[in-house]
Amino acid sequence: MKRTVWNPWAQALLATLLALPALAADKLPNVVVLATGGTIAGAAATDVQAGYTSGQVGVDQLLAAVPQAKKLATLRGEQIANIGSQDMNDEVWFKLARRVNELVAQPDVDGIVITHGTDTIEETGYFLNLVVKSKKPVVLTAAMRPSTALSADGPLNFFNAVAVAAHKEAPGRGVLVVVNDWIHGASSLTKTSTTAVQTFLSPLRGLVGTVAYGECEFFRGPVGRNTVESEFSLDGVTALPRVDIVMAHENMDGVLIDAAVAAGAKGVVIAGVGNGNMTKAALDALAAQARKGVVCVRSSRVATGRVGRNVEVDDDKLSLVASDDLNPQKARVLLRLALLKPRSLGEIQRLLQEY
Ligand code: ASP
Repeated sequence: MKRTVWNPWAQALLATLLALPALAADKLPNVVVLATGGTIAGAAATDVQAGYTSGQVGVDQLLAAVPQAKKLATLRGEQIANIGSQDMNDEVWFKLARRVNELVAQPDVDGIVITHGTDTIEETGYFLNLVVKSKKPVVLTAAMRPSTALSADGPLNFFNAVAVAAHKEAPGRGVLVVVNDWIHGASSLTKTSTTAVQTFLSPLRGLVGTVAYGECEFFRGPVGRNTVESEFSLDGVTALPRVDIVMAHENMDGVLIDAAVAAGAKGVVIAGVGNGNMTKAALDALAAQARKGVVCVRSSRVATGRVGRNVEVDDDKLSLVASDDLNPQKARVLLRLALLKPRSLGEIQRLLQEY
């Protein structure tokens, strides 16, 4: 009988070659974690106290605290900043957005997780949603309780954020925010409670999906133009124009509107009462600034609902713009990017409706 004599080296080589597709299939996605601070990196002296300081824990400690996340993705971390997000500023935004754009352009990066404070996460997320140029998942996460607290929410939020960033169905859904088992589109979420763990809601546009202990379910894509479809870019941009938010209230006058413009604001967003309303005195001041070329947007201090054109205010006559479903803080972000070049009021109205 004829016998085939196998060279042990050839045998080993063949075994390795046969295993290659399986190895490739098992390869974990590469996710880069960019840390900016916030309560998720906060620390208190004891585990049952309300007082604490944001941005105390570094990215390496954050990663080390959730070793389970290494089963979902190959992780590496970078510290972009370590601040409470109440201190978020343009310098950190530019650094973060540029680094995200660099990383997502690298073929060996599959997704990004950004740890952030909850106070302004909706603004940073929305800003990135407008200026990141990639379909790869960019997922922000945060925590309401500091890392040292009894029942800290940060570790599971972080784990879930990694699961979303590493998920094969996550690309193409715009910038996402994952907190407390919910996947929000960056354009839709808002913070609704000062202290509760269940603080984020997407009141009008709804959730993109849910994630429980890393198990993701996606319902839909994001609402509104974003990332690769966005006409905004930070290329060649070194500063954003000033846009201020003025809140409407009983007996409001125009003093703060005029003060904002005197301080250099090129745009003013009114956090109006109801459907973007304000007193006649405030409206007169706003319309006077609009006549001088300041872009004036009516939004609402109410937590949910659209602000439509020409409802109780004659926007056409007064040259004002309505925020549609963007809350004041998001309308401000969009307006700062929109004002990087001259645009008609009609075009700005279009942007508020499309993004
Ligand atoms: N002030 C904190 C921050 O935004 C609150 C938090 O992260 O929950 O950084």
